Formats: sequence, C-alpha cells, structure tokens
Amino acid sequence: MEIKMPTLPYAPDALAPVISNKTIDFHYGKHLQGYVNTLAKLIEGTAFAGKSVEDIVREAPDGPVFNNAGQIFNHTFYFMQLQPATADNKPQGRLAEAINAAFGSFEEFKTQFAQAATTLFGSGWAWLSQDANGKLLITKETNANCPLRNGLNPLFVIDVWEHAYYIDYQNRRADYVADFWNLVNWNVVAERLK
Ligand code: MN
Repeated sequence: MEIKMPTLPYAPDALAPVISNKTIDFHYGKHLQGYVNTLAKLIEGTAFAGKSVEDIVREAPDGPVFNNAGQIFNHTFYFMQLQPATADNKPQGRLAEAINAAFGSFEEFKTQFAQAATTLFGSGWAWLSQDANGKLLITKETNANCPLRNGLNPLFVIDVWEHAYYIDYQNRRADYVADFWNLVNWNVVAERLK
C-alpha cells in the first residue's frame, strides 16, 4: 500500500443510509486525507521514506509515524472492503469454510464480532484476522493499532471510532455495527486470505 488516498470503488452516496455521503466527506475526505498528508510530512527525509504503509506499520516505534501509518492502513482497508447494500450478503467458498471452522457458523461469527465491536472501550477497531496457522480470530485494537503489528494477516475490520458513525447513528454504535454487515464486499475479504 502506498501513502496516498485510495480511490473508492463506489460513489460517495452509495453506502447511505448506513454510511452517508456526509460521513464519507468527513471520514474519507477529511480524516483519512489528514493522516495521508501528516505521514508524508513526518517521514520526509527519514528512513521510512519510500517504504510501504504495511512496512511502516510493522516497523515504526509507537508515536506519530506509527499512528498515522496505522490510520492510513486501517482506513484504506475499511473503505475498500465495502459496497452498496446487497441482499443475502454473506461469505462464500474458502472464506465461508474458514469462518465456519473457527466460529461454527456465519451467524455466530457475526454475534462474536459485534460483541467485540460494541464492547471496545473508547476509540479503536474490531478485526477479523488469520494467524500463522491459517486459523481465523477476532481481536480488538485501540487507537491506530493493527493486527499486522502482531504478525497476523488482517481480513476484515469495523472502525468504531466515533467519527465513523456519529453523524449517522450518534451514540448508537451497536446499530451501526448491526447495519454494517449489509455493506461488506465479502469477495474483497476473501481475496485477503492467505
Ligand atoms: Mn476512522
């Protein structure tokens, strides 16, 4: 991943009403753009210049470089896995099998993931990742943290910083998480499997 704004694969109003055009304007257009601009400035002339976002996330010490790189990785990962709401939206093939193996069923996975996303205290992210043995697991990460930093292969994420949902859901984080499932492009998630 390069240090630049990703091109969204949908129109800015295509995810409404769960993620409104106004939320995209702020979350993608202001927050993510801010992290991209800040990181570019921070690493100018340093050993991190020219490195991928993933390498910076893995290697940077805790602090501003890591925080901005983490936010670029996490947000790009978040926005690129979405699509307009689709009926009967669920994983297929190898991804469905891996979810069933780890959690018993897609419904049980969603229950456990929603529990992680709604109980995360403060600002952060709920993740589905793959460990070194290929097994899927759910983790909670605060602030800009990312499973890449722990040697995991991230597959799917929900941003539960308030800026992700406050315009559309105010304090109702659980409703945002419940409605989010309709917007997931499971083909993109499946392509992230190793
Ligand atoms: Mn965010």
